[in-house]
Amino acid sequence: MSYNDKNIFAKILNGDAECVKVLENDFILAFMDVMPQAPGHTLVIPKYKTENLLNLDLNYFSPILEATQKIASSIKKVYSPTGVMILQLNGAEAGQTVFHLHFHIIQRSEGLNYKFHSSEPRSFKELQKEADKIIANL
Ligand code: 5GP
Repeated sequence: MSYNDKNIFAKILNGDAECVKVLENDFILAFMDVMPQAPGHTLVIPKYKTENLLNLDLNYFSPILEATQKIASSIKKVYSPTGVMILQLNGAEAGQTVFHLHFHIIQRSEGLNYKFHSSEPRSFKELQKEADKIIANL
């Protein structure tokens, strides 16, 4: 299995890069996407070295989905979107750009502009404001 420890999410997991955290336990870390496709765009990653879903240890499936459901529910409460999109890409050909498995949680509403790959980076201060709202509703 190919896995490159130098990818940015590996660095976030081992403390070599910063992120705005939303939720963390022994199995997962959830944090704000630095180039959000909509306000509140959150990523959930396993604390397990795999590029993609195909090589994920079975013990991580349930914690990832539990965290994803919890965060999606909070996003619904905070932003009242009509929809919430869960997105997960496997391989460059599928559009994956960071090669540590991750699930996107993105609010969607009619008229809410959505770009498949974003957009401008946001400051940690701006991201923290959105994270605080989501955390308060977990
Ligand atoms: P993918 O295209 O691989 O499914 O998504 C990668 C996501 O990671 C993108 O939405 C991108 O904005 C996000 N991203 C890339 N670099 C960083 C970073 O350094 N920090 C955070 N928080 N998100 C990142």
